[in-house]
Order: sequence, then structure tokens, then C-alpha cells
Amino acid sequence: MLWRATFHPPLELLLTARTVFLQGCGLPTAWAGQQQWRVLETGFGLGLNFLITWRAWKSDPNRPNLLHFVSTEDSPVSAGNLLREAAKHPDLLPLAVELAEYWHGLLPGFHRLVFEGGKVLLTIGIGDVKGLLKEQSFEADSVYLVDVNRPHNQNIWDTHSLKSVARCCRRGTRLACLTGSNSAAERLTQSGFEVTDTPEGTAEAKLLQACFNPHWEPKKAAAPNKPKQHAPQRCVVIGAGLAGAACAASLARRGWQVTVLDAHESAAGGASALPAGMLAPHTSPDDSLLSRLTRNGLRATWQVAKAQLLADVDWQASGVLQRRFDNSGGLPSEWPEAGEHWSRLAGLGENTALWHASGGWIKPRRLVEALLASSGISQRYGVKVAGLQLTSAADTDAFWQVLDTHGECLAVAELVVLAAGFESAGFVPPRGPTAESQAEHKSTQLTLQAIRGQVAWGTVTDAHAMPLVPVNGHGSFIPAFSGDDNKTSWLMGATFERNNNTPDIKVKDRQEIFERLRQLLPQTAEALKASFETSESWAGVRCVSPDRLPIVGPLDDEDLPGLWVCTALGSRGLSFAVLCGELLAAWLHAEPLPIEKRLAQSLLAKRYRFSE
Ligand SMILES: Cc1cc2nc3c(=O)[nH]c(=O)nc-3n(C[C@H](O)[C@H](O)[C@H](O)COP(=O)(O)OP(=O)(O)OC[C@H]3O[C@@H](n4cnc5c(N)ncnc54)[C@H](O)[C@@H]3O)c2cc1C
Repeated sequence: MLWRATFHPPLELLLTARTVFLQGCGLPTAWAGQQQWRVLETGFGLGLNFLITWRAWKSDPNRPNLLHFVSTEDSPVSAGNLLREAAKHPDLLPLAVELAEYWHGLLPGFHRLVFEGGKVLLTIGIGDVKGLLKEQSFEADSVYLVDVNRPHNQNIWDTHSLKSVARCCRRGTRLACLTGSNSAAERLTQSGFEVTDTPEGTAEAKLLQACFNPHWEPKKAAAPNKPKQHAPQRCVVIGAGLAGAACAASLARRGWQVTVLDAHESAAGGASALPAGMLAPHTSPDDSLLSRLTRNGLRATWQVAKAQLLADVDWQASGVLQRRFDNSGGLPSEWPEAGEHWSRLAGLGENTALWHASGGWIKPRRLVEALLASSGISQRYGVKVAGLQLTSAADTDAFWQVLDTHGECLAVAELVVLAAGFESAGFVPPRGPTAESQAEHKSTQLTLQAIRGQVAWGTVTDAHAMPLVPVNGHGSFIPAFSGDDNKTSWLMGATFERNNNTPDIKVKDRQEIFERLRQLLPQTAEALKASFETSESWAGVRCVSPDRLPIVGPLDDEDLPGLWVCTALGSRGLSFAVLCGELLAAWLHAEPLPIEKRLAQSLLAKRYRFSE
């Protein structure tokens, strides 16, 4: 894999980019009045097609509510090159500046870049088009088939590449292409497209337009996780913490009327009431699932923070230094340059350390409040949900009654999202009257564990005794965040107490936290020794799944239609919540997934069914 710009689109392509793809696919007329429009492009190059499509969406009063643009690229250009090219097109330049701000850390796999408050979603896949498209299961409305000379002879006319494009099409998907290949029309026809030659084009390249209309029944993505397309209706989210707020925001953006219910008197009353939390990517020599998830999650969280929160007050992308006391959490041996945006080795005396340039701290409550401020969300507090009842067995008109402790109906909705942390397990209705029938459905019950934790924090009185950046490794220390009283505060966390779901403050925990600080940062501990005795404490309950990964998706779309879950964010709610909200919405609407399908499937509730 090369990690620098290695190809340049021919001049003809640049000159005709506006007409070839946008107009070639009948846009913007074709998307008028639609809820969503999904464009698939096979070669991002310098990003002009994306910018042109985004620009057309922005200036169209009849634009779809949501524009998905999925593109692939095996050798991403630098942000500088994107900007240099866009500078030749003044109407595109402001959009290119926004794109360039997020155009970093593009390791192999999918990355979700969010614009226009979440209404324009760029999903960029780094790697080979064939492999990447297998990791998606959406249906494109338009295909921009980009045919340029690529490094490694990646050829879009290869049968397998074309098949993978066709697999992402529905009957009626329009395709546009500018090609020098003489056999292009024939190959498209073989793949199920009806081709129209058009007279436009250049001396070397021909403009082709086509419509997917195979004379066979197209094979669709394999069954178990093929989502149903849900039209936006009413949704109740149980839980106004990070998970619930993120799901509510993602669903409201797609037109759902969302009601968030919570037992506390205000938002972020549970684990998300943590005064400030740390975000840092997980690293591992084999770049494990968790490592890849945390990077995707961090990108999602920072994008919301940058757009909606106050820098240095609500969050700070300060970077995080990780001390590796036991040498765990190393980097992959062949860590490409793009990886340095996330993490790199850093020396620290005799210990090895990692510098996570993409890390920082954030106040969970502020993130929750910002997410819940989206239009289309109503919130009710001080309401304890006690149960759920499905009112009709027929899938089409089934809806849920959400009941309080007296059996009174609090709300009705076609979709319920369980985001109540550890309590979420208690809402899954028992399945069948007998012990046998319930045992048969055991796999659709949620297995969750509560892990109580406590942190200590206080006002910074001696800034010189503090490290310059947050440090983790044995506990985590945030040296300076602005407390609610506007005083600069430090925070040290955290204890782990399994199978305790009571968030009470324990005096003995303060000593344990201090011991952690002593190992992590001995000099800071010495300086804080006296004030630690009188420091503030906060305790909360984390919710974890058996494999320590979040649970996101439907519980059982056949027997419990419209009952979905987003929980088990563990100790990384700040990294996971926003990504999980988008993932839940993507499954629900059969949209392009923000991460590879394999990663997304490993978070489904039903993963446990296959392992039992
Ligand atoms: C000590 C500690 C330190 C942490 N440090 C970090 C950190 O540095 N970085 C990080 O990323 N994460 C950290 N976390 C984890 C993070 O706080 C969680 O992952 C995150 O807050 C979980 O969000 P949630 O929405 O799933 O749960 P919660 O925030 O707990 O929200 C669940 C909500 O459901 C509501 N609810 C429950 N039952 C009912 C019911 N019957 N009816 C109505 N409402 C109900 C609750 O009132 C609650 O508001 C820490 C956690 C703890 C405890």
C-alpha cells in the first residue's frame, strides 16, 4: 500500500466532472423530495466529484434530507493536494476546506466524515474496491464509476470489481462513467446494466450512462444481518445518557419523532454524569477489533465536539500520553504514516510510552446535552420505565407500549431503543409462558455486567506540579479541565468493582485512587497528597457485555419487532456513543455503514446466539 498521491486524473476528467457524473446520473432532479440519497463512487481521487455533489445538494431547495456519499480509494492524496486542486474551482473551495480538516488518519478500512450537521455523510473506504464493497450492504441510488489509471493496476472493469458494484445496486440505480475502455459497455451489460451510449466525451474517453435492470433476480446480501428498511415513525429511547442521546440524535436527524425517557431529574444522570472523561485510542500489535472501533469512535466524537461544543471549555483535543507499565498495547509493526495521526511510540525515561495525538478530554454531560438539543427530540425526566408491551403480533402495525411502575402507559412507539445502561437487560420481555420456551430464547436476552467505579477531582492550586497533558496507563489523570465552577480542575480515575450496581461514594476508594496516581505520576501525587484528602468524589456504574464490546442493533427483529438496543459502552462511552448511534441508525435504514460490516456485526446483540 502506498501512502502518498500516486495518480493524477486526466485533464478531461476534471473538465467534465460536473457533467459526467452528476448529470449523467440524472442529478439533482432524481433526488428531489427523497428522504435519503446514496451515491457510490469507485475512486475518490482529488475529491472533486464529492465536492460537486455536496455543492449541488447544498444549493438545491428540493434536496434529500440526508446525502450519503460512499467512495473508495487505494492511495488517498494529502489534505494539501485536495485543497490545491479545489483552489481551481472557487465555488468548491470552502467545502474543500471543511473536508481537508477531517482528511487525516486514513488507515485501511472505512472512515465516516460528517458535514452539514450530519446531513452529508462521506464514507471513505481505503483499500481495494472489491474487498471494501463486500464490507457494505446498502443499495446505491447513483453510481459514479470512476475509471482512471490506478497504482497496482486496480481495474474497475475486472469482473469481480464490477460484480461488487452491481451488488450495491437496486433495480433502477443509474450509473455514469467516462472511459477509454472499448469493452466497457459490454462488461456493464454482462453485469446487469442497460447501457446508453451518449455522444459526449473526449477524443480518448467515452461517456456511458446505464441503469441497473438485470434480466435475472439480483442476489442480495446474505441473510442473518440483512436489515429491514424502517420508515421514520415514533421512537422511544429509554435512557438519557451518552448512548441514549447519541441514538436519539441520529434517529431524529433521519426524521424520527423521538421521545427520551429517563428516571433521573435531568439528562446525563447515570454513568454519563462523570465530571470529565478521557478519550484515547486503544492500540494493539494486531490492530484488533477494539483498536479499530476506538479510532472510528474517536473520529465520530471529535466531529460532534468540534461542531457543537466549546473548545477548551467542554472538550480539548490535548493528546494523551499512555505509560506502558507492562509493555501492553503496542502498535502494529507496519504502522503506516496515516497511523501517526492516532498514536505513535514516545520515550519516557526507562518506560515505554505511547503518544495519542488524537486523544483528549471531554465533559460527558455537555456532549449529552448537545446531542439531545437536536430538533425532533422531546425529553421526559423523573419517569422510571418498568416494562414494555408489544400490542400487535403483525409486524407492520406492531407498536410498543412503554409502561411505568404502576402499569400506566408512558408512551407508545413503533421503535424502542434500550439505552439504560446495566438496567437495559430488565426490559427485554420474557419469551413464552414456559421455562423451556424462555430458555430457548435465552440468547436474545441481554447478558450485562455492572462495574461500579469512583473518581477523585479537585481544584488545581499548583499548575507546575501537573503534567502538561492527560496521562493514562494505570488509571487516568486529567491535569486541567474547566470545572462547573469555572475553576481549573484535575481528575484522577478510576476504581473497578465488579457486580456492584450501586453508585455510592466509598472513602476507601479515595486511597486506592491515590495509590494509582502514585504509580502513574509520582511527583504529581506528592504535590497533591494533602489536597487529595479533601478532594471531591464521584461514583458511577459502567455497563459491560461478556466480550467487553458495545451491543448495538435489533434484539430479535422477528419476534420482538422494533426493539433495539445500544448499551455496554463499558469504560469508553465517550469514544463509542456517537459512533454507536450512527451505527444503529444505519442498520435500521439499511444505509451505508460507518464502519466495516464485520466490525458492525461483531456488535450485534445476536452475536451471542451464534457463540452459544
Ligand atoms: C468511574 C467511571 C469513570 C469513567 N471514565 C470514563 C472515561 O474516562 N472515558 C470514557 O469514555 N468513559 C468513561 N466511563 C464510562 C462512561 O461513563 C460510560 O460508558 C457512559 O457514560 C455510559 O453511557 P450510557 O448512556 O450507556 O449509560 P448511562 O449514562 O448510565 O445512562 C443510562 C440512563 O438510563 C437511565 N435508566 C436506567 N434505568 C431506567 C429506567 N428503568 N427508566 C428510565 N430510565 C432509566 C438512567 O437514569 C441513566 O440516565 C467511566 C465510567 C465510570 C463509572
